[in-house]
Amino acid sequence: MTDAERLSLYRRFRPQRFADVVGQDLVVATLRRAVAAGKLGHAYLLSGQRGVGKTSVARILARAANCLAPKDGEPCNRCQSCLRILAGQSLDVVEIDGASNRGVDQIRRLREEVAYVPAGSRYKVYIIDEVHMLTGEAFNALLKTLEEPPPHVLFIFATTEPHKVPATVLSRCQAFEFGPIPDEAIARVLAQVAQAEGIALEPGAAELIARRSRGALRDALVVLDQLGHGGAITEARVVELLGLPPLSLVDGFLDALLARNADRALAVVGELAARGRDLALFVEEAAGRARDRIIAGEAALIPVAQRLIELRGELGRAFSRRLHLELAVIAHCGPPAAPPTEPPRPAQDRAASPPAQPDRGEQGGGENLGWEAMLKAVLSERPAVAAFLAPAAATWADGLLTIRLPRDCAYHHEALQDPQVRGYVEAVAHRFFTPLLAVEIVREGEREKPSLEEGARILAEALEGRVLREAGNG
Ligand SMILES: [Zn+2]
Repeated sequence: MTDAERLSLYRRFRPQRFADVVGQDLVVATLRRAVAAGKLGHAYLLSGQRGVGKTSVARILARAANCLAPKDGEPCNRCQSCLRILAGQSLDVVEIDGASNRGVDQIRRLREEVAYVPAGSRYKVYIIDEVHMLTGEAFNALLKTLEEPPPHVLFIFATTEPHKVPATVLSRCQAFEFGPIPDEAIARVLAQVAQAEGIALEPGAAELIARRSRGALRDALVVLDQLGHGGAITEARVVELLGLPPLSLVDGFLDALLARNADRALAVVGELAARGRDLALFVEEAAGRARDRIIAGEAALIPVAQRLIELRGELGRAFSRRLHLELAVIAHCGPPAAPPTEPPRPAQDRAASPPAQPDRGEQGGGENLGWEAMLKAVLSERPAVAAFLAPAAATWADGLLTIRLPRDCAYHHEALQDPQVRGYVEAVAHRFFTPLLAVEIVREGEREKPSLEEGARILAEALEGRVLREAGNG
């Protein structure tokens, strides 16, 4: 099947009347009232994420404005004007794709055209999609028209990034924001379309598709289209198509976090990593699943869900998603069952679940690779110490390794000052950072990055110590 055919389901079920638009009730009601009252503005800006109905609403508005027999602000979709626009044959409705027409020529042509009255319609309608992509020059040309719009011209701009539209243009538009479409509404549309198409769709599968489409009805219908030709659509088929982790695994992970069982949670992470699964996607699924379970009454999952949402953002920037996730698990659960050499350690501070961000600072640099390798070693040798280091970031310059903990990690900081722990951290650091002259463990806010002089002093002391030792040896 070709992509064009795949899109057909979405195209066929595109709303043709305001009443059929899903999940944008306020926007639609306002526009309908304006049409019905004959009080349309000259320019509208429709903003919102992709797949939420902006273009559909723009086209409905274009027809409603020119319809010969409108009813309650709705286009009739049967008169000559409606039919011509629906067939894409009207000269009075022009669609411009801002993304592919960034040049000023088309807007210049537009400026010349707007002077003429429409060819047989009430309004000459310009729909400019992704309007923020226009060049500055094109915007300036557009602005000249917007400043003195002829009464028969109607501009409908659509954009996914309204903050990139110049204020001078914004101020001349009536702006409408399209929110993400609620999961329940998407699931309902999926069920209706499936029924109309004779596709067997499990309710659980519809819910899963809806949740994964993040408010974009178009994306949900594309998934339905992809799965609709292979027999009944089950949850398992959706899971497979979208590369999602099985629900049992997600629940197992959440149960392990609830029970603060690091071993079980780490086993799930290990299994996913071994299968090459996307761990960020997994964390997102886990957060979504936690939400469902909280709504079903498991309030104990609320802090877990909050941490998972934070973690999802952190993983996007992490140098090693697996390591970052493992350290976060340990920071939450406490250390896993310790190897025999593990000395007894104070209990993990469970009240505070600190943000684990070992990847802040420069990305992909030598120090990050060294820090990652060092944390891995600590994790396997002394997991409790790894839990203290988990929220830290590291910088390494001029032989000085600075391990920086977030401000709210006072307990971690204190635990790392224990002479035995500190000695161990320094010993491990020497294996991964060469040359290494000194290790500093600081907490943000409490003591900022050492000043240049201070750094020089530390360096000088360290060098001096070494020189003296070398002199003594020689
Ligand atoms: Zn009509």
